[in-house]
Amino acid sequence: MSDTIFAKIIRREIPAQIVYEDEHVLAFKDIHPQAPVHVLFIPKQAVATLNDLADDQAELVGRLALAAARYAKQEGFAERGYRTVMNCNADGGQTVFHIHLHLLAGRSLSWPPG
Ligand code: 5GP
Repeated sequence: MSDTIFAKIIRREIPAQIVYEDEHVLAFKDIHPQAPVHVLFIPKQAVATLNDLADDQAELVGRLALAAARYAKQEGFAERGYRTVMNCNADGGQTVFHIHLHLLAGRSLSWPPG
């Protein structure tokens, strides 16, 4: 798999505002935030797109979701609400090919998305 900007962030080769880390997950603030809170939760194990997730990697996505929900509770906006999004490929708007869960919060988000 080709290297990505997120792999470089995991290896600390480029800076990021890291807000959470454990053995499997890294979370950092999006460089172009689309809401007052915009954090990306990524698995340390690289998977290019959701299409590439293998059966035995299901746990990776669950870990991202749990970490995002825990962060929302910790930061105090869980009850008010938030959105998690995983974009896939061109029509989904994916630009970095290392799966990531966007966590957006801090304003009322419209639906459907653009
Ligand atoms: P995607 O479009 O693939 O769903 O989301 C990629 C996200 O990564 C975008 O929201 C973009 O702003 C963010 N991003 C791209 N490059 C960097 C970077 O170098 N640092 C950080 N923190 N975020 C980045």
